[in-house]
Amino acid sequence: MNLKDKIRNIEGFPKEGIGFKDITTVLKDKDAFKYSIDELKKMSSEVEFDTILGPEARGFLVGAPLAYATNKAFVPVRKPGKLPAETISYEYDLEYGTDKLEIHKDAINKGDKVIIVDDLLATGGTVLSTIKMVEELGGEVVGIYFLMELTFLNGRKHLEGYNIKSIIEY
Ligand code: 5GP
Repeated sequence: MNLKDKIRNIEGFPKEGIGFKDITTVLKDKDAFKYSIDELKKMSSEVEFDTILGPEARGFLVGAPLAYATNKAFVPVRKPGKLPAETISYEYDLEYGTDKLEIHKDAINKGDKVIIVDDLLATGGTVLSTIKMVEELGGEVVGIYFLMELTFLNGRKHLEGYNIKSIIEY
């Protein structure tokens, strides 16, 4: 399967100059969706882990099915103010301004081995912020897996030393 053929490129979304990689065309194609989760499962089979973290919102769409397929736990990473219990947060820089993500304080236990899964790696800010929260709680990030990676944005340069894999690259 060539997953690139299933991803729709939308020029000018969410603003001028950006070519958005739309995965709804993958999700609505049962074979492409299954292939994507199967590939993530293969990547994750190379490590021992307890828990999968997926950042809001597209990380839920790949992280939760992967957790089911691998019989592991799932932890949602959310935008501020969405999680009901006690949280920890990490604020990270964007090109203009900052953004913040949160997880529940009791979502990760000291010594837990976790993987992070999302649809796309761009600048790496989302994943770096997720890593910081896992490590603050004493967890260890043993793998970071994506459907696709925009290599020209150099997200990996913020993530040196981590085990990162993606199914396809642009
Ligand atoms: P980063 O933090 O690496 O710069 O951006 C990655 C995050 O933004 C991911 O959570 C991803 O869902 C979202 N994102 C950024 N650009 C795109 C895009 O073109 N397509 C999709 N599907 N998600 C994107």
